[in-house]
Amino acid sequence: MTEDPIEQDIAARLAEVRQQIDEAVVRAGRPPGAVRLLAVSKTKPAAAIRAAHAAGQREFGESYAQELAQKAEELRDLDGLVWHFIGRLQRNKAKQVAQAARVIHTVDRPELAAELGKRAAAAGVRVRILVEVNVAGEASKGGCTPAELAAVLAAVAAEPSLDAAGLMTIPPVTDDPEGARAFFAELRALRDRHGGAAALPELSMGMTHDFAVAVAEGATIVRVGTAIFGARG
Ligand SMILES: *Cc1c(COP(=O)(O)O)cnc(C)c1O
Repeated sequence: MTEDPIEQDIAARLAEVRQQIDEAVVRAGRPPGAVRLLAVSKTKPAAAIRAAHAAGQREFGESYAQELAQKAEELRDLDGLVWHFIGRLQRNKAKQVAQAARVIHTVDRPELAAELGKRAAAAGVRVRILVEVNVAGEASKGGCTPAELAAVLAAVAAEPSLDAAGLMTIPPVTDDPEGARAFFAELRALRDRHGGAAALPELSMGMTHDFAVAVAEGATIVRVGTAIFGARG
């Protein structure tokens, strides 16, 4: 039913990414449906999200608070949309993000968890929280250190409006996707040391160029932008 070539293009790209995820799941011997696709739509127009939605996609990731708020407003009419926030988050944006996003992947300090908890409670919403861990210890990146993880998780657990859902990481950039494997494995090992999958079901790891490796290492959410929506300007 779709005439718009851009729309068909996005539908085809989505289908390809979903197939690649399914194949990686099978290769890893994991159960069907073990991995969810988060379509990362940052900097892309609302029309691209509508096209992905028409192709069955429901979970979308945004990196900037203002852009998330605008798109959430503009796309209110779409059924079943679930917004995830995956960008660096400052406390003064916590209110805006807690109102729009049902999942936040980038909580990395106790004060931020407390602020989000307060804002979620005030808005009467529940927010699923993933704690971002800077597994490689890169100075330029967000995320707590492995040593700080317990304190951040405790701060999330202390907030009645927040649910601790899992861990997230962004590994160092490498040409070879295999370069990310050790960091993905380390995130999974950290999860095992902090209550395991029962306490922290989600592992958010893997992007366009390394999601297959992430699936092999236990990802439950892969965050894919470029492969679906094309390169960002
Ligand atoms: C932009 C972004 C992505 C998507 O990256 P692609 O390489 O375009 O798939 C995933 N995760 C985070 C945190 C991002 O900022």
